[in-house]
Amino acid sequence: MTGKIPRISAHTRYEDEDRFEPSDSQDVYDPDKEALIREMLVRLGEDPEREGLKRTPLRVAKAMDFLTQGYHLSAEDIIKKAMFDEDVTEMVVVRDIEFYSLCEHHMLPFFGHAHIGYLPNGRVVGLSKVARVVDAFARRLQVQERLTSQIADTLLKHLDAKGVAVVMEASHTCMMMRGVQKQSSITISSAMRGAFESDARTRAEFMGLIRR
Ligand code: ZN
Repeated sequence: MTGKIPRISAHTRYEDEDRFEPSDSQDVYDPDKEALIREMLVRLGEDPEREGLKRTPLRVAKAMDFLTQGYHLSAEDIIKKAMFDEDVTEMVVVRDIEFYSLCEHHMLPFFGHAHIGYLPNGRVVGLSKVARVVDAFARRLQVQERLTSQIADTLLKHLDAKGVAVVMEASHTCMMMRGVQKQSSITISSAMRGAFESDARTRAEFMGLIRR
Protein backbone atom coordinates (compact mmCIF):
# COMPACT_ATOMS: atom_id res chain seq x y z
CA MET A 1 0.00 0.00 0.00
CA THR A 2 2.26 2.77 -1.19
CA GLY A 3 1.13 6.17 -2.37
CA LYS A 4 3.14 8.01 -4.95
CA ILE A 5 4.77 11.00 -3.34
CA PRO A 6 6.35 13.21 -5.97
CA ARG A 7 7.30 16.78 -5.17
CA ILE A 8 6.15 19.48 -7.51
CA SER A 9 7.39 23.02 -7.37
CA ALA A 10 4.89 25.81 -7.63
CA HIS A 11 7.62 27.85 -9.28
CA THR A 12 7.23 25.90 -12.47
CA ARG A 13 6.30 28.53 -15.02
CA TYR A 14 3.42 27.87 -17.30
CA GLU A 15 3.63 28.47 -21.05
CA ASP A 16 1.48 31.55 -21.19
CA GLU A 17 2.77 33.57 -18.25
CA ASP A 18 5.36 35.80 -19.91
CA ARG A 19 2.75 38.47 -20.54
CA PHE A 20 2.86 39.31 -16.84
CA GLU A 21 6.55 40.17 -16.90
CA PRO A 22 7.02 43.94 -17.17
CA SER A 23 9.22 44.61 -20.17
CA ASP A 24 11.45 47.67 -19.94
CA SER A 25 10.16 49.09 -23.19
CA GLN A 26 6.48 48.92 -22.31
CA ASP A 27 5.00 52.21 -21.11
CA VAL A 28 1.36 51.32 -20.75
CA TYR A 29 -0.14 47.97 -19.82
CA ASP A 30 -3.67 48.63 -18.55
CA PRO A 31 -4.43 52.38 -18.38
CA ASP A 32 -7.51 52.04 -16.13
CA LYS A 33 -5.84 49.82 -13.56
CA GLU A 34 -2.69 51.94 -13.59
CA ALA A 35 -4.74 55.08 -12.95
CA LEU A 36 -6.33 53.41 -9.92
CA ILE A 37 -2.98 52.40 -8.49
CA ARG A 38 -1.54 55.86 -9.11
CA GLU A 39 -4.54 57.27 -7.24
CA MET A 40 -3.97 54.86 -4.36
CA LEU A 41 -0.33 55.97 -4.13
CA VAL A 42 -1.49 59.58 -3.87
CA ARG A 43 -4.05 58.73 -1.18
CA LEU A 44 -1.35 56.91 0.79
CA GLY A 45 0.65 60.14 0.79
CA GLU A 46 3.12 59.18 -1.92
CA ASP A 47 4.36 60.99 -4.98
CA PRO A 48 3.73 58.69 -7.96
CA GLU A 49 6.04 60.82 -10.09
CA ARG A 50 9.14 60.19 -8.07
CA GLU A 51 11.72 58.03 -9.79
CA GLY A 52 11.20 54.82 -7.81
CA LEU A 53 7.43 54.84 -8.26
CA LYS A 54 7.11 55.88 -11.90
CA ARG A 55 6.64 52.35 -13.21
CA THR A 56 5.01 51.00 -10.05
CA PRO A 57 1.40 51.30 -11.32
CA LEU A 58 2.33 49.24 -14.38
CA ARG A 59 4.16 46.66 -12.29
CA VAL A 60 1.36 46.39 -9.73
CA ALA A 61 -1.27 46.05 -12.47
CA LYS A 62 0.67 43.17 -14.01
CA ALA A 63 1.35 41.56 -10.65
CA MET A 64 -2.33 41.71 -9.68
CA ASP A 65 -3.33 40.23 -13.03
CA PHE A 66 -0.84 37.44 -12.47
CA LEU A 67 -2.03 36.78 -8.93
CA THR A 68 -5.68 36.65 -10.00
CA GLN A 69 -5.29 34.82 -13.32
CA GLY A 70 -7.27 31.92 -11.87
CA TYR A 71 -10.48 33.73 -12.82
CA HIS A 72 -9.61 33.05 -16.45
CA LEU A 73 -8.58 29.43 -16.00
CA SER A 74 -10.86 26.43 -16.12
CA ALA A 75 -9.86 23.67 -13.73
CA GLU A 76 -12.13 21.36 -15.70
CA ASP A 77 -10.11 21.97 -18.89
CA ILE A 78 -6.82 21.49 -17.05
CA ILE A 79 -7.96 18.10 -15.75
CA LYS A 80 -9.75 16.84 -18.84
CA LYS A 81 -6.82 17.53 -21.15
CA ALA A 82 -4.49 15.42 -19.01
CA MET A 83 -6.57 12.39 -18.04
CA PHE A 84 -5.77 8.93 -19.16
CA ASP A 85 -7.15 5.46 -18.51
CA GLU A 86 -5.03 3.46 -16.13
CA ASP A 87 -5.93 0.37 -14.19
CA VAL A 88 -4.88 1.86 -10.87
CA THR A 89 -6.88 1.66 -7.69
CA GLU A 90 -4.15 2.57 -5.20
CA MET A 91 -4.19 5.93 -3.53
CA VAL A 92 -2.25 8.66 -5.35
CA VAL A 93 -0.82 11.39 -3.14
CA VAL A 94 0.85 14.62 -4.21
CA ARG A 95 2.31 16.31 -1.22
CA ASP A 96 3.89 19.70 -0.46
CA ILE A 97 2.47 21.59 -3.43
CA GLU A 98 3.42 25.22 -2.77
CA PHE A 99 0.71 27.74 -3.34
CA TYR A 100 0.22 31.49 -3.05
CA SER A 101 -3.16 33.13 -2.77
CA LEU A 102 -4.71 36.45 -1.72
CA CYS A 103 -7.15 36.69 1.16
CA GLU A 104 -10.35 38.30 0.05
CA HIS A 105 -10.71 40.36 3.22
CA HIS A 106 -7.45 42.28 2.97
CA MET A 107 -6.07 41.35 -0.46
CA LEU A 108 -2.91 40.29 1.33
CA PRO A 109 -1.08 37.06 0.55
CA PHE A 110 -1.58 33.77 2.26
CA PHE A 111 0.67 30.94 1.25
CA GLY A 112 1.74 27.45 2.20
CA HIS A 113 1.45 23.88 1.05
CA ALA A 114 -1.34 21.73 -0.26
CA HIS A 115 -1.43 17.96 0.08
CA ILE A 116 -3.76 16.11 -2.21
CA GLY A 117 -4.80 12.50 -2.42
CA TYR A 118 -7.26 10.65 -4.56
CA LEU A 119 -8.48 7.13 -5.15
CA PRO A 120 -8.59 6.58 -8.92
CA ASN A 121 -11.54 4.90 -10.52
CA GLY A 122 -9.88 3.66 -13.70
CA ARG A 123 -8.58 7.08 -14.70
CA VAL A 124 -5.64 9.16 -13.51
CA VAL A 125 -4.51 12.70 -14.22
CA GLY A 126 -1.01 13.98 -15.01
CA LEU A 127 0.51 14.85 -11.64
CA SER A 128 1.65 18.34 -12.62
CA LYS A 129 -1.99 19.09 -13.44
CA VAL A 130 -2.94 18.52 -9.82
CA ALA A 131 -0.62 21.40 -8.93
CA ARG A 132 -2.07 23.45 -11.74
CA VAL A 133 -5.59 22.94 -10.40
CA VAL A 134 -4.37 24.26 -7.04
CA ASP A 135 -3.02 27.36 -8.79
CA ALA A 136 -6.22 27.85 -10.80
CA PHE A 137 -8.14 28.30 -7.54
CA ALA A 138 -5.36 29.85 -5.43
CA ARG A 139 -4.78 32.68 -7.90
CA ARG A 140 -7.99 34.46 -7.01
CA LEU A 141 -9.27 36.34 -3.98
CA GLN A 142 -9.96 33.53 -1.57
CA VAL A 143 -10.62 32.28 1.91
CA GLN A 144 -8.60 29.20 2.72
CA GLU A 145 -11.61 27.03 3.57
CA ARG A 146 -13.31 27.71 0.24
CA LEU A 147 -10.07 27.22 -1.67
CA THR A 148 -9.67 23.81 -0.03
CA SER A 149 -13.18 22.62 -0.82
CA GLN A 150 -13.15 23.98 -4.38
CA ILE A 151 -10.04 21.94 -5.16
CA ALA A 152 -11.55 18.80 -3.59
CA ASP A 153 -14.95 19.14 -5.29
CA THR A 154 -13.41 19.87 -8.69
CA LEU A 155 -11.05 16.90 -8.58
CA LEU A 156 -13.81 14.59 -7.35
CA LYS A 157 -16.16 15.67 -10.11
CA HIS A 158 -13.84 15.67 -13.10
CA LEU A 159 -11.55 12.79 -12.15
CA ASP A 160 -14.57 10.68 -11.39
CA ALA A 161 -12.52 9.48 -8.41
CA LYS A 162 -13.69 7.23 -5.58
CA GLY A 163 -12.52 9.84 -3.16
CA VAL A 164 -10.46 13.01 -2.84
CA ALA A 165 -8.62 14.46 0.15
CA VAL A 166 -7.17 17.95 0.35
CA VAL A 167 -5.25 19.36 3.31
CA MET A 168 -3.87 22.89 3.14
CA GLU A 169 -1.47 24.52 5.60
CA ALA A 170 -1.01 28.26 5.24
CA SER A 171 0.46 31.37 6.81
CA HIS A 172 -1.72 34.45 6.43
CA THR A 173 0.19 37.71 6.11
CA CYS A 174 -2.92 39.63 7.18
CA MET A 175 -2.50 37.92 10.57
CA MET A 176 1.28 38.21 10.59
CA MET A 177 1.73 41.85 9.53
CA ARG A 178 -1.38 43.43 10.98
CA GLY A 179 -4.32 42.52 13.24
CA VAL A 180 -3.25 40.01 15.86
CA GLN A 181 0.34 39.92 14.49
CA LYS A 182 0.83 36.25 15.12
CA GLN A 183 3.84 35.44 12.99
CA SER A 184 4.08 31.71 13.48
CA SER A 185 0.49 30.54 13.44
CA ILE A 186 -0.42 28.10 10.70
CA THR A 187 -3.98 27.63 9.53
CA ILE A 188 -4.85 24.08 8.51
CA SER A 189 -7.95 23.28 6.50
CA SER A 190 -9.12 20.00 5.06
CA ALA A 191 -11.77 18.68 2.72
CA MET A 192 -12.51 14.95 2.62
CA ARG A 193 -14.75 13.56 -0.08
CA GLY A 194 -16.00 10.09 -0.97
CA ALA A 195 -13.97 7.25 0.58
CA PHE A 196 -11.81 9.70 2.53
CA GLU A 197 -14.92 10.94 4.27
CA SER A 198 -16.64 7.61 4.81
CA ASP A 199 -13.69 5.33 5.56
CA ALA A 200 -11.49 6.15 8.56
CA ARG A 201 -8.71 3.80 7.38
CA THR A 202 -8.45 5.50 3.99
CA ARG A 203 -8.31 8.85 5.70
CA ALA A 204 -5.68 7.59 8.16
CA GLU A 205 -3.54 6.21 5.34
CA PHE A 206 -3.61 9.59 3.61
CA MET A 207 -2.80 11.47 6.81
CA GLY A 208 0.11 9.09 7.38
CA LEU A 209 1.49 9.72 3.90
CA ILE A 210 1.45 13.50 4.22
CA ARG A 211 3.01 13.53 7.69
CA ARG A 212 6.49 15.05 7.64
ZN1 ZN B 1 -7.07 38.61 5.51
